[in-house]
Amino acid sequence: TMSTDSRNYAVLLTKKDDLQIVEIPMPEPAHGEVQLQTKATGICGSDVHMWKHGQIGIFEVKNPVILGHESMGVVTKLGEGIKTLKVGDRVAIEPGIPCSACEQCLGGRYNLCPELVFKSTPPYHGVLANYITHPERWLYKLPDTISDAEAALLEPLSVAIAAVERAPARPAHSLLICGAGPIGLLVLAVSRARGVGPILITDMQPSRLAVARQLGADHVFQIDPTHSDVATAQEIRRVLGEAPEVSLECTGIESSFRTAIRATRDGGCCCLVGVGKNDQTLPVNDFAMREVDIKGLFRYHHTWPKAIRLLQTGKLDVKGLVTHQFDFKDALKAFEVAADYSKGSIKVQIVS
Ligand code: NAD
Ligand code: ZN
Repeated sequence: TMSTDSRNYAVLLTKKDDLQIVEIPMPEPAHGEVQLQTKATGICGSDVHMWKHGQIGIFEVKNPVILGHESMGVVTKLGEGIKTLKVGDRVAIEPGIPCSACEQCLGGRYNLCPELVFKSTPPYHGVLANYITHPERWLYKLPDTISDAEAALLEPLSVAIAAVERAPARPAHSLLICGAGPIGLLVLAVSRARGVGPILITDMQPSRLAVARQLGADHVFQIDPTHSDVATAQEIRRVLGEAPEVSLECTGIESSFRTAIRATRDGGCCCLVGVGKNDQTLPVNDFAMREVDIKGLFRYHHTWPKAIRLLQTGKLDVKGLVTHQFDFKDALKAFEVAADYSKGSIKVQIVS
């Protein structure tokens, strides 16, 4: 049996396909850090991918790693030198800790810091443990109006804000979103709040497209994998009524990236948000000779305050994306449900 009062358990990926709940030492906060009891943690597609494949993008699981990076909690202990937080404060966790001194950090794009410690990306442990420590600088005090479940959505919401700003998708401009997983759906919600539109979103899962409709997509489009990228792009343009000025690819699947490139308007922008195979075959002349800008996205910078404000002001209501919550002791079951989203799960969370 597990008590979360005095003992500390973590969800550890020991190697590909082997996820375990293990007891770990209670962490002591260093100077500038606090100890937190985590309260809600979302399971990300990348956590599932690392579990099933032992790698994600360019990162490989070589040593056992604790998963999880979409989290919030309550401050339980202060290290030396803490200025803004006290025991009992509810906080959201920004899981990437940059050096704050290099050229990228000083330039503001601290997501590109070569020394970035991103919790849950090998070799760094994640936050799926009852108790963790984290620097005060990368914690954000939460207003009471934001629930634990919503606060654990701030990390994927940050990805969505960064994606919309990076393209950028502008008010009254047309947008194609490929993939209606948590990231694609949050991109949809943020774009709507910003007045972007018309918006067309694709997926293969009817249940996820139904959620996209509820979130206000102008058009939902079910992908037929037997159709070519050229034919699919033509269909998307026809349904949308025009070629999208911006496409945000949120699946990482090669055929979807190819479709997004082909659908994007001449002179538009196609941004790759999804993480897929390291080497992909793309229709290069199609984007080069139509001056479609291809961009990449690597997480976010400066998004937590904006994401908190969007939720706090009611500009964004994304609570409905949390379809399942499991107690910490049932964490492995939570991973099973997150991995099999054909049964209707969107965001699965582990709560304490
Ligand atoms: P997810 O796997 O839950 O969602 C992907 C969706 O794409 C699914 O609903 C799936 O049915 C759909 N899909 C699959 N093939 C498709 C196709 N050919 N056409 C249209 N839809 C298709 O994942 P998620 O949590 O929503 O994350 C989406 C992607 O974003 C993942 O690749 C993830 O790794 C990536 N990601 C990137 C960043 C970044 O910084 N760039 C950050 C977080 C997540
Ligand atoms: Zn740096």
